[in-house]
Amino acid sequence: MLIDTHAHLDDKQFDADREEVIGRFFASGGETIINVGAGLGSSRRSVELAEKHKNIFAAAGLHPHYFMKHATWDTEHKDQLKELARRNKVVAIGEIGLEYYFPDENITEQQKEDSKKRQEEGFLFQIELAAELDLPIIIHCRQAYKETLEILTSEKKKYGGKLRGVMHSYLGRLSYAKEFIKLGFSLGFNGIITFARDYDKVIREVSLEKILIETDCPYLTPEPYRGKRNEPSYVKFVAEKIAEIKGVSVEEAEMATTANAKKLFDI
Ligand SMILES: [Zn+2]
Repeated sequence: MLIDTHAHLDDKQFDADREEVIGRFFASGGETIINVGAGLGSSRRSVELAEKHKNIFAAAGLHPHYFMKHATWDTEHKDQLKELARRNKVVAIGEIGLEYYFPDENITEQQKEDSKKRQEEGFLFQIELAAELDLPIIIHCRQAYKETLEILTSEKKKYGGKLRGVMHSYLGRLSYAKEFIKLGFSLGFNGIITFARDYDKVIREVSLEKILIETDCPYLTPEPYRGKRNEPSYVKFVAEKIAEIKGVSVEEAEMATTANAKKLFDI
């Protein structure tokens, strides 16, 4: 019984056949999907989807992209996020974090610094919200592992055990992985590990008890469907790869990662 701990089923790529996609996951033995918000709209859609399906849960949060786009923190948005986060089927705050990859070549150094500052403020606000509601956080981190680790280390002093969660789509090195685990975080892996060998070492070295599996669908489709749209039922290819890399049976990888997800999200 598998859990897809990171899906974006509210994405418009699923508009034509969302219910079929969901049906396929549960028909193939899938147990639970966590649908993760990235902005206010997608957080709201995630909550609605979760309210409609017994075995779908939601995460509400503002992705660092939100803070790249918005020049100021909108108070109204803050309140809306707080309201959504309190809904029954919300099991985490996410995805939140830091994104230091700036694809726009025309962006100035000053604009980058401003964006980083806003992202950090948004991240801190949402960590506080998660601690207040005693919810885990789902972290998006790109080219900012050092900074994310610094923030989590100092926030841990404030919130202790209330600060916990998952480093979603983990692409960092082993030394950082060990630090995140020490702080009470798990590592989420997806289809990337089926076609890139750069993360085998981290997967081999960390305890299976600290690994979650996800699709991040509709993105990051695993082999053998790379290039096509991703969907929750493909999370089994991630479980198979984890089993292969760790040298355990597929059943063991499935059971362990499912148990890890249930424990973290309290579902
Ligand atoms: Zn995502």
